[in-house]
Formats: sequence, structure tokens, C-alpha cells
Amino acid sequence: MSAGDLRKRYEAAFMPNYGVPPVVLTSGHGCVVWDADGNEYLDLIAGIAVSSLGHAHEELGEAVANQVMSLAHTSNLFINEQEVVLAEKLRELLGGEGRVFLANSGTEANECALKLAIKYGKANERTYFVAAENGFHGRSMGALSLTGKRSIREPFGPFAIDVRFVPYGDAEALRAAVTDECAAVFLEPAQGEAGVVPPPDGYFAAVRQICDATGTLFVADEIQSAIGRTGAWFAHQHEGVRPDILTLAKGLGGGLPIGACVGFGPAGELFAKGDHGTTFGGNPVAAAAALAVLWTIEKENLLDNVAAVGTLLKDGLAAVEHPLLTGVRGRGLWLAAVLTPGAAPAVEAAAREAGFLVNAVQPDAIRIAPPLILTPQQARSFVDAFPAILDAAAGAMKPNPEAEPPKEN
Ligand SMILES: *Cc1c(COP(=O)(O)O)cnc(C)c1O
Repeated sequence: MSAGDLRKRYEAAFMPNYGVPPVVLTSGHGCVVWDADGNEYLDLIAGIAVSSLGHAHEELGEAVANQVMSLAHTSNLFINEQEVVLAEKLRELLGGEGRVFLANSGTEANECALKLAIKYGKANERTYFVAAENGFHGRSMGALSLTGKRSIREPFGPFAIDVRFVPYGDAEALRAAVTDECAAVFLEPAQGEAGVVPPPDGYFAAVRQICDATGTLFVADEIQSAIGRTGAWFAHQHEGVRPDILTLAKGLGGGLPIGACVGFGPAGELFAKGDHGTTFGGNPVAAAAALAVLWTIEKENLLDNVAAVGTLLKDGLAAVEHPLLTGVRGRGLWLAAVLTPGAAPAVEAAAREAGFLVNAVQPDAIRIAPPLILTPQQARSFVDAFPAILDAAAGAMKPNPEAEPPKEN
């Protein structure tokens, strides 16, 4: 199988919404993946913060294989043990509380949260929603209406609900926007797709206070930030506050598609029978995968690994002095190297050439979100390679002298 050939077939067979990705991946093991040309890469993006346990993880593989061979699907007409154990495990990690809805993706987890909020709003004469500028909550129409990034949202508007956008991290702007007519506030603990942008310390505590003062639901979209990514099970736990509704997906299934929406207290009791559903939600294979992920994180103390290796990586990258690099932000194994505007695609490409997969999440930022099992040695190998990667990117970005217009004189 040739990579060039597959890229051509991809281009002909798929809608053009993703463009044509540059690499064909064929297999992986741990934090390493291989492409169709036999090149080896250290995977520092983990399928967008998804492959928590890396690739070809034995426990995950066994859990999935065994479950497929015994019962691959039940639908919500029947109970399967795996979904129950998973919901209980999530509750345990969340302090023993919460009611769970299982979905198949992030955007669906947010649709569930939005329907809860709409139901709450209708019952209490609350007519609008607040979310953050540049935030990302998904591509289905409800989640898209909450997504603050204009280039993603506006081509598909207008939307059925009234969403007001505030600058992210600005507690006073949020206070001004949230009244007792607001049904819910949707926020990420740090804005992932915006380039792993953390809010100022204390922001989530302020959000909690503003929502409490007005009776507004606080929805934390932890689809990217949870399941150990920041060194805590859930990023909101760093701030010691609890949202009313929590959404999860990406890292939860370790690569298998799964999403979850958790409602706490009255927010977990809003749906009546028949209010919501999905055929695949609670699928036993996805649930078995999620349990393997959660149990492995626990058994192997991966939260400690994330904190330690994340610090090593962040400090190591931040110590690099280079004209293209302006800073490093984020926490745990969820970081962004901040670059001069427009440099990110060249840095992503140079990193790939050097054997590292990262993601140019914004024109001025590359996202680093490796498997939670990344070793200190692997982190160091990227830190050591980073100056040469930046040099190569700078070289590639230099205007081609032949393409330069003749100098005027
Ligand atoms: C990825 C993401 C989503 C959407 O998840 P999908 O599984 O792609 O639908 C929603 N919110 C956040 C914060 C995300 O990072």
C-alpha cells in the first residue's frame, strides 16, 4: 500500500471537509506510531487528546476484544453490566455523586447538556445561554450554536437558541452577561481548540459564584481536559469547584468512541423518561474500553506521571530560546508552544520530518497532547529535538528568493 495512492483515494472518496491529511498511519505501540512509508514517530497528539493509554495497549485491547466476542451491543432497550460499572466508576471519581448519560462523541455529550439546560430554562423562564468567544463545543447544531469560534459557527447560522458570547477568562464580563434569565453557562476549563488557553487562576471559582448567585446552570465542557489530561481526573478539580453539568469524551475511551454527560444534584434529575436517548449510548464495547482506561490510569498512577512528565516537558520547552518561540502554556500533558504568528504549520511539518507528531491547532500555536503514558525519556527527546525543529521551520518559512519581486530602485 502506497501512501500517495491512499491519499488520492481518500481525496476522491471523502467529502473535502478535512482536506487530505499528510500522513497515512498504519500501526502503533505505546507512544510510537508508524506510517505507510515505514517512518516512525513519537505521537505527541494522541489523536487529539484521545489515545490516553497510547496505542495497542494490552488491557484496553483485551477488554475490547473480550467484549466484542461476548456482547458487542445491547441498545438502550436492555441493560449491560459494563455501562453500569462505568457510570458508577465515573460517579466514584466525581466524589460519589452525579447521574450519567452515555453518548458516542463529544458533541453528543454537549447536546445532552444543552437539552438539560433548555429544559431547565423552560421551567424557569430562562431564555438565553452564555458561552465564551473562541470556545469550542462541537459541530452538531446545538453544540455549534455554543461554539464561539466565528469561522466555525457563522456559516451555519442562524441558530435556534440565543447564545451570548463573552471574552474567555474575564469574570466581570461573565458577571455582566449572566442574569436570572440565563439558563446555563457553557465553558471549557482551558480552551483546547483555541490553542490550550488557560483562564486566569480563580476563574472557575468565579463562574461557580456567578452561577450560584443567579441560579444559572454551570456546564463544564471537559471533553478535552478530563480523564487525567491535566494531572487531575477532571480539570475543574484543580479549582475545587464542581459544575452542575459535566461533559466528557475524547480521552475517556482510549480511542473507542464514547461521550458522557454527568448532571449533579437537581441537574441530574431534569430528564423524564423519553426526553433523550441514543441507540449506541452505553455500548458495552465502548464502556469496557473506558473502564480499562480508568482502571489503568489508577493502577499505573498515571495522574502522577502526567504531572511529572508534563512539568518536565513544559519547563524543557520553555527553556528553549528561539525567535519563533514566544512561550509555553497549559498544564499536565496538555500544552501549547506559542509561536510567532503563522509559524505553527511549518513547525508541525518540521516536527513530523524529525519524527514527532504535534498539531498546529492555531496559526501561532502547536498543541502537545500525548498519551498519558509518555515517559520522561520520550518527553526529553522532543525537548532536545525542538531547537532544530524550530530552525528547520524557520528555514522553510524563509521567502524563496526566486519568488521575491525584483527590488525597486
Ligand atoms: C473535541 C471537543 C468537542 C467535540 O467532540 P467531538 O467528539 O469531536 O464531537 C467538544 N468540546 C470540546 C472542548 C472538545 O475539545
